[in-house]
Amino acid sequence: MEFPAFPDSAHPLTWPEGYRAAASFTFDVDAESCTIAHDPTSTRRMSLMTHQSYGPKVAVPRLLQILQRQDIQATFFIPGFTAESYPDVVRRIVDAGHEIAHHGYLHEPMQGIDAATEARYIDRGLEALAKVAGVRPVGYRAPWWELNWHSPALLADRGFLYDSSLLDGDAPYRFSVAEGDSRDLVEIPVDWALDDWEQYAFYPGVTGSGVIESPAKVLEMWTLEAEAHHAAGSCFVLTNHPFISGRPSKAVALEQLISRVKNMDGMWVTTLAKIAEHTRDTVTEVHTHARIEVPGFPDAGARFTPAQVRQPQLPADPLQSTTTVP
Ligand SMILES: [Zn+2]
Repeated sequence: MEFPAFPDSAHPLTWPEGYRAAASFTFDVDAESCTIAHDPTSTRRMSLMTHQSYGPKVAVPRLLQILQRQDIQATFFIPGFTAESYPDVVRRIVDAGHEIAHHGYLHEPMQGIDAATEARYIDRGLEALAKVAGVRPVGYRAPWWELNWHSPALLADRGFLYDSSLLDGDAPYRFSVAEGDSRDLVEIPVDWALDDWEQYAFYPGVTGSGVIESPAKVLEMWTLEAEAHHAAGSCFVLTNHPFISGRPSKAVALEQLISRVKNMDGMWVTTLAKIAEHTRDTVTEVHTHARIEVPGFPDAGARFTPAQVRQPQLPADPLQSTTTVP
């Protein structure tokens, strides 16, 4: 690099001896669950269901072979419904030595739901992973990375070690689960630039921009991200979905990326659980996330409402007196 990198100074940590940065390859095995959670009637669409089932049926076996050839361990976030639908696939992931982590039961939309409802989703996901794979996960990733302010305490209640759904760091850190609560979790932050969804996901009428990027471009982009994390001594976390990144040319590019990252000097390529354990054991500072209070307006009694943003009452423009404000 031409210039020395500036690290994430808000979240300092020291990596295990011999390592200067960390990287983790994670796979969210959403399969049909994310589509059904978004629209239950999507089960009527045979082709759409096969687009999703490609993940566990075709892509996961391919990805497991790649991970074996590259000799690395990865983290698989698996909704409970996926586990129940594809128990043999989940057991193959476990047998290969990879980490199984929690990703909801039916990839439920979490935005705005109450704690009791969210607790039911988490518990049902735990039951499914225990029944299918005999696994009690230590890691959680909220569906769509949508954590609520009450979520961390629910995770601590159930013995989770870490979450990987927040977006406010380049490196892992510890954080208090709630104000006045002495318990903490490890957070391993994510980044939309390191999610294959934004690069490749497209299904007509369901998701995506219609542009499916070239794996060559994505490989270049993610290599730059990995190099920057390596230079800064932080933590590169890639999020892939098997039904997206397990398709042929994308899987080839992913293997090339894994090989490049593995060969970066002092890069610790491992599971999120191992990174979380190291963070818990070596970091002493515990951060807090302060909940945002919506500011009031200075004139007494005035309350801010979203309508004030969407429909501003602009002053009339004397040069364009015929213009109307929508
Ligand atoms: Zn997901």
